[in-house]
Amino acid sequence: MLKSIGIHHITAMVNDAQRNIDFYTNVLGLRLVKRTVNFDRPEVYHLYFGDNSGHPGTIITFFPWEKQLKGRIGTGQVGVTSYAIPNQSMSVWKDRLQQFGLEFKRTSRFGEAILAFRDSDGLELELIERQIKSSNHEIIGFAGATLFSAQPNKTAEILESLFGMECVGEEDGFLRFKGEALVGNTIDIKLTPSVRGLMGAGTFHHIALRANDEKELNEWRELLLDKGYNPTEVRDRNYFKSIYFHDEGGILFEIATDSPGFTVDESIEQLGEGLMLPQWLEAKREALEKQLPKVEVRRVEGNQS
Ligand code: ZN
Repeated sequence: MLKSIGIHHITAMVNDAQRNIDFYTNVLGLRLVKRTVNFDRPEVYHLYFGDNSGHPGTIITFFPWEKQLKGRIGTGQVGVTSYAIPNQSMSVWKDRLQQFGLEFKRTSRFGEAILAFRDSDGLELELIERQIKSSNHEIIGFAGATLFSAQPNKTAEILESLFGMECVGEEDGFLRFKGEALVGNTIDIKLTPSVRGLMGAGTFHHIALRANDEKELNEWRELLLDKGYNPTEVRDRNYFKSIYFHDEGGILFEIATDSPGFTVDESIEQLGEGLMLPQWLEAKREALEKQLPKVEVRRVEGNQS
């Protein structure tokens, strides 16, 4: 049976590219691992943040577009993205969020301590303590994501019978599924109703699960067609190949291959430094560079100590 070991990446929409870079590199301490454009709409950036080498399971991506209207978090969306931090890191992170003037809430779910807060565009984020070995308190990768499905049972079936994830429990209105990866291995489905989601800035756009290779991707595509879903053709995203489909709960899923990864056009040392374009957009480079806002990775200090 086909099995996804966990989350490949999660993608969201935001307004300001520089603010987005400042937040994810400075507050969360992630690395900008790729600066490219939305292949379907090249006048908009596509920014990727992850661990040092951009491993699947650590990657959050954004389409920053200034003129985009604000969306509303709700049904039919990934509602919350969660990051894994090592055990005993909570107080360090509380201090850090406070330094940056961010409000947070301490909660717990499935026996795990959680810090819940919002990013600079209102996206809901969590830090979850996990038992993963680490020499510091930094984010290790995703813990997982919470889906606000319009039809939780149908989405649960997708996670179980399509992605081969295991249902490991239900608690306080959340159903938890688990994959075998070390990071990005839990997906929770919220069982209580939410308002209807509206796509726009400050909302998550889709969640991508991991496929080993293109052969698996094609098998998934066949399986989706058999089950009556309507997957896209295999698309070449330069750093991975992928397909997309909507489930009955309104969630936009992507399935993406682990390879070739982000070092296909930049060395590990240089990840995120240049504006990288796929071959078919190189002819438009000059025009795009003029049109896209100037951005940089820079140090921003939290000052509210
Ligand atoms: Zn994607």
